Parts: sequence; C-alpha cells; structure tokens
Amino acid sequence: MKRKILIIYAGGTIGMQASENGYVPVAGFEQQLREQLDGHAGQLPGFDVLELAQLIDSANLQPHHWTELARVIQQYWPLYDGFILLHGTDTMAYTASMLSFIFQGMDKPVIVTGSQIPLSELRNDARDNLLTSLMFAGRYDIPEVCICFNGRLLRGNRSRKVKTTGLDAFDSPNAGWLGQVGINIDLYSERLLPAGKADFALPAFNPEAVVVLPVYPGVPARIARDLLNHKEVKGVILHTYGAGNPPDANGELMAELEGAVKRGVIIVNVTQCLQGSVIQGAYATGATLNRIGVVPGCDLTLEAAFTKLHYLLATQSPESAREMMSRNVCGEMTE
Ligand code: ASP
Repeated sequence: MKRKILIIYAGGTIGMQASENGYVPVAGFEQQLREQLDGHAGQLPGFDVLELAQLIDSANLQPHHWTELARVIQQYWPLYDGFILLHGTDTMAYTASMLSFIFQGMDKPVIVTGSQIPLSELRNDARDNLLTSLMFAGRYDIPEVCICFNGRLLRGNRSRKVKTTGLDAFDSPNAGWLGQVGINIDLYSERLLPAGKADFALPAFNPEAVVVLPVYPGVPARIARDLLNHKEVKGVILHTYGAGNPPDANGELMAELEGAVKRGVIIVNVTQCLQGSVIQGAYATGATLNRIGVVPGCDLTLEAAFTKLHYLLATQSPESAREMMSRNVCGEMTE
C-alpha cells in the first residue's frame, strides 16, 4: 500500500514571501506546493498538508511551541506513516532536538526541513529539500527525528545550523550522516536508532527554567550571579572554551557556579567548539568544574544540551534529570 505522509507547515523561509520589511511567512503553502508538483505527484508517496494557524519566523520560537508541535504530530500519529515538519532554519536544530526527546521510542520518521530560499522564488532549495524529505519519509522506516537539508539526512539532536547563506546550512559535526542523496538515495540504516513503541508524554515547559551562560575573556561574576540567582532557573548550560575550560582564575565566578550547584541547579558543561567533546579535567581549569559538581556535556551540541535539560526538568525529578544529563538517551551524545 502507498505510504502516506503528513506535511506540517509551521513557518520559516520555505513558505515565506518578500514584504516591505523582508521575508515573512504567508498562508497558502499547500497550493504553492501542488502547483509546483503539477503532474509529478504520482511519483511521490501520498501526502496531506496541514498548515498551522500561527505561522512564525522561527527566530520567535518559544518553548511552548515545542509542546504545540508535538501535540499536532501526536494527534495524527496513528493516521500517517511519517511526518515532515516544515520549520524555519534559525531554530530548526533546537526543535529537532526537542522532538527527539519527546518522541523517544518512536517507530516512524519525523523529518524536519525548511530552506534558505523560499519555494516562491524561481531559484530555490525549498523544492529539493521537501522532495528529498518526502522520499526518505515515504520509502524508509526511519524511527528517528531527522533534519533533511541539501541532500543530507542528519540525526536531529546532532544537527546544527552551520551556515547563514550556504545551501548546505546543516551538518552534524559529531555524528555521521544518516543518509545522503546524489544520483541515488542512500540511507545508512546501520546508524539508525532501533524502533520503539510510540508512547509519548507532552511536557509543559517553564521557559525560564534553563539559561545559557557563555564564558568569554573578561566575563564578570556579576553576569553569572544575575543569571543563576533567579528562582525559576533550574538548569544552566555553561558554554566553555575548547575541551570544557572555564576561566577558573576568576574565583568569584567559580564561587557563583558552586553556590548554584549547592542550591540544586544542574549545570552542564558544553564546548563552544563546533566539533569534539568536553573532557572536563584535561586541563586544570576544567578540573575545577569537576570539584564544583558541574556535569560534563561530552559532545552534546548546545541545542541538544539546552533542549535535553528543558525536557528532563519538565519530566523527571532533579536527581534523575542530573543523572540522565550525563548519559546518552536517544543518540544525542557519545558516552
Ligand atoms: N528566519 C527564518 C526562520 O528561521 C530563517 C529560515 O527559515 O531560513 O524562520
């Protein structure tokens, strides 16, 4: 039987049109798509298009959008063989990461895609990204949340937007691609997560629960104090140099971190480097964080660390959230 895919349009460049103030998302994506595919739909898996009522530029994404997107997918889960989420590229890696945590144990594909140039332009990457996503979702059992972009199929929670204007805008620097498209469509099945049994909970997120604290030359302890002392803050992504090194000579800053850990705040150490892993203790500077009780984030991307911490704080006890941050849950980190 022909497989059926639900394409959900949530906003982003792929369906945008030029306005006086630059590109804005507009309704009517399905009509545009069907016009473009005129006469070729028979070569594709069957699909329906669902356009969300509130289309956004994904720069405006808020944590509650994750719950809403997951709710739509969950609602239609039994009716379709796979899902394509059309999303803006700016926060695509955050959403793909979060959906991978929400849909753990999934048994069908959720492929997130978008484009750098809208479908409405003559020269665009929208058509190719969408058709390639449809082919992957329509032909294969991929039990993962992926990003499909510029012929690459990437694990969602390993993906990053790496280029502002290049069409090869996404990569997964710490994990091999799951598939690739050239003349042929290649899926690297041996890299896929095992299929599970769909049983999803929809968390409600406290948007203030997780903050990102970057280190940079001269970062004052005051910045950490302001960020960490808010009562809603339960988790921190500490964005450090290289192999996970903070400026430990700043004793006041270290004391702020230590105080937060003692209050029960979960601090996770993630590198500012594009590729590689935190090795907390490779340098004496990083070893300070071991003493304080900061969780090393291994090779988590910032996006995966941020969404994982949000997800765990919304669904687990603080003890189990802390424990789960240091181990692989659904392919997001190399232990
Ligand atoms: N600002 C846009 C968005 O993230 C960029 C894009 O879609 O490429 O919605």
